[in-house]
Amino acid sequence: MIIAERKPMEEIKQVTAPYKKLLLAGCGTCVTVCWAGGEKEVGILASQLRLARGTEGKDHAILEATVERQCEKEMAEELRSKVAEVDAVLSLACGIGVQTMAEIFEDKPIFPALNTTFLGMPEKEGVWVEMCGACGDCFLDRTGSVCPIVRCAKGLLNGPCGGTRKGGKCEIDPQKDCAWVLIHRRLIKQGRLYLMEKYYPPKNFRAVKRPGKIQAIKA
Ligand code: SF4
Ligand code: SF4
Repeated sequence: MIIAERKPMEEIKQVTAPYKKLLLAGCGTCVTVCWAGGEKEVGILASQLRLARGTEGKDHAILEATVERQCEKEMAEELRSKVAEVDAVLSLACGIGVQTMAEIFEDKPIFPALNTTFLGMPEKEGVWVEMCGACGDCFLDRTGSVCPIVRCAKGLLNGPCGGTRKGGKCEIDPQKDCAWVLIHRRLIKQGRLYLMEKYYPPKNFRAVKRPGKIQAIKA
């Protein structure tokens, strides 16, 4: 799931200040699950902006709408009539949603209300953990399906670094597990520890083709 968090209010106020009529556009999928951009969050941000603008005595109009997925053009299209009514759009979607909206509504400023942070897993209520950095050449077959690229603070392909703390915590952040301790434990359980005895050369970042595009072929 794509994880995002709301930008600071001051930044949102500053970027939207020149525009009298605004649409706050929510996204009903990933960012709703991580409490950053669903219908409820649109309502909260709209109230905060109305209050801020009201106390400044500014004439303004703030519209609200949420679609299921802003990253799909057909769904973003549902916002067309509302977008036509406003001077700018504040998108409560991830960066993909913001850019999808920008492709469709070329003549309208589309601003992000969120900071898109990582691809993660819900660990428990209100906590999400980064699991993948979309590196383009998945390494999980060699690491017991624990990603050292994002879960090791140093992104080591040959670990651990030598600084691992007692109890298996990371040298950099004692609150977090050392990814290489997790890898070690999993490989032992699976009888595949020989994978840790191999040397892996530096990652070839040419596998990450940017800008990426994939044409999936249906089976
Ligand atoms: S190795 Fe790359 S693709 Fe695989 S989980 Fe890690 S970052 Fe994601
Ligand atoms: S302690 Fe473990 S997770 Fe932390 S930087 Fe070293 S190898 Fe990576």
